Amino acid sequence: MTNDKMQGFMFDNMDIRGVHLRLDQGVKTLLDQQDYPAPVASLLAQMLIVACLLSAKLKLRGRLSVQIRGDGPLKWVMAECRQLSDDPEQPFRVKGMAQVNEPIAPNATLSEMVADGRLIITIEPDQGQRYQGVVMVDQPTLAQCIESYFYQSEQLPTHIQLVSTDQGAAGFMLQRLPQTEAEEHQADLDWELVHALSATLTEHELAQLPADQVLHRLFHEQQVKVFAPRAVLQECDCSRQRCGGAITSLGKTAADEILQEQEAIVIDCQFCNAHYSFDKVDCHVLFEQGVIADKEPQAVH
Ligand SMILES: [Zn+2]
Repeated sequence: MTNDKMQGFMFDNMDIRGVHLRLDQGVKTLLDQQDYPAPVASLLAQMLIVACLLSAKLKLRGRLSVQIRGDGPLKWVMAECRQLSDDPEQPFRVKGMAQVNEPIAPNATLSEMVADGRLIITIEPDQGQRYQGVVMVDQPTLAQCIESYFYQSEQLPTHIQLVSTDQGAAGFMLQRLPQTEAEEHQADLDWELVHALSATLTEHELAQLPADQVLHRLFHEQQVKVFAPRAVLQECDCSRQRCGGAITSLGKTAADEILQEQEAIVIDCQFCNAHYSFDKVDCHVLFEQGVIADKEPQAVH
């Protein structure tokens, strides 16, 4: 069991919702598998948090990904959150990775890592329309970029705080819900109050405290209703099945050409380092019978 979980909440008499998320074990496991420069590891951890925070308000079966692409030494970084069903008891599943092109200084800022970066948010329901939104990475921090994304795309005032340490990562998000004009003045005052209280949460508190203590610390004078917490697992979705599909779509001729030069077609998952190997017999069965010989992927690392 881990403490990696997401806690949604709302206020009894204010149109404001929020989410708190801790992701310690998941972030550590993911970062242990790769050797990223410190600022890239920190950004990737925060991207995982963002992918979950944004998924919290979507009731969908499918995936939401957050990507940053730019012309700097960090070519791209992405995190994805999957919901396998719309059952709120089901955990969120996350994965993420980064592609580094050139050396990155230990204290590099976001804009130094991703010159002229774009932040791309993609929502892919299992059924239905795919959605994509893009904003420039023109703010000093990822949290501010996401606030700016919501302001530009949905005109929803949003407050986001993210923190990542050697021990894991955490995030806190508040969002104002749309109002009618008549309610707007009161809603402005409510937002100002809740936003001002939230701004007193320190990085240290966010990094250390569980959700109930954060909510008590900030809102003990407000009426807050919490939803059932939801587990978050760091888990790749690669499989021998998927790799077989990739080889099939390559075509038999191309696969045979590779097998003339080497003993097996080997596919390494870039997310989790799992290693899938299809030798001549596996490929024969795959193309002739459309069946994937069931083998466990070889150990990570
Ligand atoms: Zn994988």
